[in-house]
This record gives sequence, C-alpha cells and structure tokens, in this order.
Amino acid sequence: MPEFKNMYRTLPDGTLKHINPLTGTEVWTVPDRAHRPLNKAIHQPKALQTTNPENYCDFCEANYFKTPPEKNRLIQTPDGFYQILDHLSPDDLYNSQAILRRVSNFFEIVTLDYWIKNHGFQKSVDQTLWQKKYLANPRALVHVLQMITTKLKLIGKTSEELTQMSQEEKLRLAESFFGGAHELIIVHKHFKSGAQFDTDLVSSGELTSEEHYQYLRFSISALNDIYANNRFVRYVSVFQNWLQPAGASLEHLHRQLVGIDEWGASIESELEIVRQNPNIYNEAIINFSIAQNLIVAENDHAIAVAELGHRFPTLVIYSKSRQVRPEDHTAEELRSVSDLIHACHAATGNQVPCNEEWYYTPRDAKVLMPWHILIKWRTNNLAGFEGGTKIYINPISPMAQKNLLIPKLNELRQQGKIKNLIIGDECPSKPNPLLYGKK
Ligand SMILES: [Zn+2]
Repeated sequence: MPEFKNMYRTLPDGTLKHINPLTGTEVWTVPDRAHRPLNKAIHQPKALQTTNPENYCDFCEANYFKTPPEKNRLIQTPDGFYQILDHLSPDDLYNSQAILRRVSNFFEIVTLDYWIKNHGFQKSVDQTLWQKKYLANPRALVHVLQMITTKLKLIGKTSEELTQMSQEEKLRLAESFFGGAHELIIVHKHFKSGAQFDTDLVSSGELTSEEHYQYLRFSISALNDIYANNRFVRYVSVFQNWLQPAGASLEHLHRQLVGIDEWGASIESELEIVRQNPNIYNEAIINFSIAQNLIVAENDHAIAVAELGHRFPTLVIYSKSRQVRPEDHTAEELRSVSDLIHACHAATGNQVPCNEEWYYTPRDAKVLMPWHILIKWRTNNLAGFEGGTKIYINPISPMAQKNLLIPKLNELRQQGKIKNLIIGDECPSKPNPLLYGKK
C-alpha cells in the first residue's frame, strides 16, 4: 500500500506524524509529552449517600416524570424475555421497571419548528394519536405543563411571563415531545450495584454484554422510528457523550439520536473520498492497521483498531458485515459489533470522558461505507497551536493507545466481564475483512 506510507511516519527525534486517510486530519504525537494515566478519577472520589430508587439526577428511576413523555421502554418479563412497551400512560410508569427508556430531548438540536417551517413536516398519525391520548389523561397534562414550565424557566422566562401564557400556548411548545426527531435513550442505572463513591458510575463498559447488546438494539429501533415518523430525515446522527469534558450534561449514561435533513459535512466529505476508492476502509484502515500492528481486537463480525490521524486518541470498531446500515444487520452481527464496542468501553474505563459516534451509509447514498463506531477519548484539550496550524497534537499515539488497552482487555476477559473477542496478536489479521456492499 505505497500510497499510504507517508500517512504514518516517525521522524528521527521520535515525533510521529500521522494523517487520517478518510479526513486528511494531520496529527503529531510528540515524544515525552506527559499524558494522564488511563482512567484516573476526574475528581477526588466522594463517599456516596445511596438512595433507593436511585435519585441522583433527572434521568434516575425516581424521576420518570422529570423527562418528557416516554416514547417507549424496554423491560424484562419475569420469565426473562425482553419486551418493548410503547407510549405508557403516566399511571403505568411505575408499574414496571424500565431497563432502557426513550424520550425526546428537552432541548432539541434540530427543532420540531425547523422541520415544520423548512419542510412542511406534520406529525405522523402515530405521533398525533399518542399525543391526543396522553394529554387526555389529567396526570399527563400536569406532567407536560410542568415540563414546559421548567423549560421556559431554563431559557429565562420570568414567573410573570409564565402566568400570562395560556395553557394552549404551553401545549403548543410541548408538541416537540411528541413529534420531534431528537431523542434520548436512557440506561436505567446511574451508579453500579454496591457503589460506594460518586465515581462508581455506570458507563457503557460497566454494563453486562447482554445489557450493552439490548442498549444497542433499542437504539437502532429508535433510529428506525425516527425515519418512519419523519420522511424528511436523510440521516440520523447517533452519539453518546460520556462525562462533562465530553459534553455530557448529566453523569447518567444515555445515547442521543438526531434526525437531520442532510448527511452532515463529515459523511459528505468521507463519501467523496470513498467514491475515488471504494475499498479504502479495507486498504487504508484495516490492512494498514494490520501492517502497523494496530489491531486491538476482533470477532466474527467486527474489528477494532487504534486509528491514526485523530485529534483525540480514537478507537474505531468496524462492522465486517455486507450490510452497510445498523438496522440491516442480523442479530448475530449486531451481537458481535456490540461485544467489541462494549469491550472497548470496558477497557477504557468509566473515568475517561469520551464520545461515541456512529457512521454508516445514509439511506439515499449510492457510495457505501461500512458501519463504524468511533470512541474518542477526550483526555486532551486543543490549544492555540492547533487553531493556527490545523496540525493537532494528540499525546497518545495509536500504538501507545493499543498498548494501554491490550493488558486491560486480557484482564477483563479473564474476569468474564467481556466476551466474544480475540485480542491483539491473537487476531488472524486477514486482509480485506470488511465486506461492506459485497454480494
Ligand atoms: Zn441519574
């Protein structure tokens, strides 16, 4: 792969220069620049006063009424089966324990108003019926009005302004709870069982592999629903911000899905590069990572690499499937992808702020990209040098990141906390494992 050799080179002084073949981002890793040890607590742990049910933030079990009306939830039946309950009445919210909940985002990035005014969007039949049924319940009406009052106060409305507003006006503002395309998937637990300190948080890696798989599957069913309810959505951006330095407002695990009416600049430019070389993900990422010994872990349907050319130390999990969208994967393929994402989060630890970002082929794209999931460790801050030069200093090289992870992955597998993967040198490293789009 001669055309990629200049994208990853070490200079005589030890400086590693690396360029991401998909984005062109230029990154330097300078020797001896100190970085924090992995998973050091981001603040001094404080003893935790536990509550039952959990009541530490608005996403906790005690606060089902502090989120917008629930679109659906995942529960486990007494005989162990998973079941989705749609559009629960407020009277039933506490009749079951939600493993996962799906609600609209309180503050949308792309608002319902955007869809209505720019596209002439009208709520789907399903959304309209749900809204009508929900608001017909007196308890639900109080819930929705309370949510709107809270929202208006947060955006600076005074009590006087609020009392002057009619109920109709407030209910109009609540339309986004039912018809919006920015959603949250909330995991049931805030802290781990037996937590003693406020740092004992449930991150993606602290879930069991089964819980992580259910979280992934439930997120994909939400993604499908966003497309089904809004025909103007061209792409659903899926991401997870973990801890405040990564942009999370609450330290309670949740994933976000935002329907957008374009692909977004990064997908656009990446697909332009793929158009030139459709096999680029194999050639420039996977085969290259095999040659450079940067494969972190692998299983039947997914492969994880410490990827070059990112501003932050970044692990990327690629699906090997022929299918190019998460919703088209088989259950077995999803399980494999989930197990590798879960293992990467578990080895990263719950004290490392990180963003998880999904990339996949938009429904209206002809050029194909494999579904891949980035986990970016937000352990370094960008500074003036980066702004001025567009050269980014990433203190952890892909090799150093891989070397931090391998012992941790081995340890977690030994403890039975992660499964269905082979690690580092165990990987067969056969070239061209990504089958995206192949018949
Ligand atoms: Zn919470």
